[in-house]
Amino acid sequence: MSQGYIQEIFSSFQGEGASVEGSCYGLRQIFIRFSGCPLALGVHGTKGCIWCDSPKSWNTTPKKCYIETKAGTQSFEEMANPLTSKDVLDIVKRLSTKDLHSVSLTGGEPLYQESFVSDIITSLKEAGYKTYLETAYTDNFQFLEEISEKIDYACVDIKDKTADAASEWKKLVVQEVEMGRILKDAGSKVFAKTVITKASKKEDFEFIAKMCGSIRLPIVIQFVTPTSKSKVEQPTWKQIDEFSQIAGKYLPPNRIGISIQMHKAIEIL
Ligand code: SF4
Repeated sequence: MSQGYIQEIFSSFQGEGASVEGSCYGLRQIFIRFSGCPLALGVHGTKGCIWCDSPKSWNTTPKKCYIETKAGTQSFEEMANPLTSKDVLDIVKRLSTKDLHSVSLTGGEPLYQESFVSDIITSLKEAGYKTYLETAYTDNFQFLEEISEKIDYACVDIKDKTADAASEWKKLVVQEVEMGRILKDAGSKVFAKTVITKASKKEDFEFIAKMCGSIRLPIVIQFVTPTSKSKVEQPTWKQIDEFSQIAGKYLPPNRIGISIQMHKAIEIL
C-alpha cells in the first residue's frame, strides 16, 4: 500500500465544463487534491501558471492536509501527511452521499505521485466509484496508458500561451493533446479545457483547436478567474465568440463549449 501527500479532500460540485462528452459540470463529486505540480517545479522551464488557483498544492510534501468533516459542512479537520491509499478510500467512503456522481482526482497535478494515485484509482474502482481525472501534465505516457482504463472521465487542461506554463509552449500543447489521445483510446470520456485571458491570441487558440480537432477531442473555452496575485484580466465576449467560431473550423458544434468557474461564482468549495 503506497503513501502520498494530499492537500485537501472535500465534497462539492464540479464547477468547470460544458455540455460536451467527458464533462461532469454541475455534478456532485468528492475532490481529492493531490500535492505537487511538475509545471510549477519548472519541468517546462517556467514556474507554473501565472493564474494558478491552487498554489498551496505546489508544496510537494506538506506536513498536514485538510479533510472535510462531513459532506456539505465546509468545515475541515487536519490530518498528518503522508496518507495511505486506504486512508484516502476511507475518507471518500465517509464523505459519500446518495447524489455522488464521481471522485475527482485533481491538484496540483494528480499524476505527479504515480504509485499513490494509481493505488487510489484502483481502490476507488474496486469499491465501485466512478473516477474523474483533471490533469495538465505527465511525460510518463506508459504510466498514463496503464491507468487510463480505470479513468471514467477526464479533463485535460491544455495551457494557453498566456498561462506562461512552458518556455516552449507548443511542445507542451502537443504533449497535453497526446495525453488526451491516450485517455480517449483507452475508453475514457475526455475533453480539453483551455483557460483564456484578455491577452490570449487568436492564432494561439487556433493551434490548440486544430490539435484537438485532429483527434476529435471536445474543447471547453474557460474564462480565467482573476486572482489577487496574478492580475490577469478576463477575456472579452468578442474574444470568446471568435474563439468558439475558430473551434468550429476543426470540431463539430457538440464538441465545443464555454465555461466559467461556477464554484467560484457561487462561493462554494
Ligand atoms: S498546472 Fe495547475 S496546479 Fe500547476 S501551476 Fe498550473 S494551474 Fe497551478
